[in-house]
Amino acid sequence: MNAILELRGVRAAYDDITVLHGIDLSVAPGQIVALLGPNGAGKTTALKVAAGVHPVASGQLVIGGRDVTGAAARDLARLGICLIPEGRGVFPNLSVRDNLLMMTFTGKSRDEIEEVAYSRFPILGKRAAQTAGTLSGGEQQMLALCRGLATDPAVLMLDELSMGLAPLVVDQLYEQVAEIARQGVAVLVVEQFAATVLDISEHAAVLVRGRVQHQGAPDEEFRTELAGLYLGSN
Ligand code: ATP
Repeated sequence: MNAILELRGVRAAYDDITVLHGIDLSVAPGQIVALLGPNGAGKTTALKVAAGVHPVASGQLVIGGRDVTGAAARDLARLGICLIPEGRGVFPNLSVRDNLLMMTFTGKSRDEIEEVAYSRFPILGKRAAQTAGTLSGGEQQMLALCRGLATDPAVLMLDELSMGLAPLVVDQLYEQVAEIARQGVAVLVVEQFAATVLDISEHAAVLVRGRVQHQGAPDEEFRTELAGLYLGSN
């Protein structure tokens, strides 16, 4: 299937320090791609570049076959690019319901947004009146995910969804991510620790010091290679 999001030879820098040295990465509709790698490898920067919140120094950002290098984040959002950043994108002092209802700017009705969220994660329905800051970490991630889904993304990018969460909660979240992909959304997932995400990914890439060191189907061979890269990068 044709890629909807492509990074072609993308270099990115903070001031004069290059942190992505020409990476190639692509995601197709309905596909889950995992971007893995140790701390500081450049994973978050790659997502920021794809969302247009960090500039491409050289190379190309291509969406739906169209070169959109240099486009503003709001224009990429209009093309369906949605980034859920690390550390839960929710408003802690607002209720769960109000966090969701803010997304009516997308043109969706209040009922539809709430219904979709609560059917995906019934616990959010039970906590609708509670302020988001009092939710568990996993529930906050569920809420962040539902806020993102309200934009009907073509490409959903998730940064360290599993950070600080219990394995059972991570499994529950990734089950929903897999379901979202089955509905045709392209999903690009950044994680430092790989096990759960590799189980649901069709393709994975390992970034080490700003370079894709290895990519392919996440089979046994890939996992062995990955373990070696992690050991070698410390
Ligand atoms: P982590 O898992 O720690 O978030 P990462 O793989 O996502 O790591 P990035 O956050 O993309 O990596 O960081 C890549 C490199 O860029 C690191 O060396 C980091 O210190 C540096 N960096 C990130 N953000 C900035 C910034 N705003 N200014 C300067 N350097 C930055």
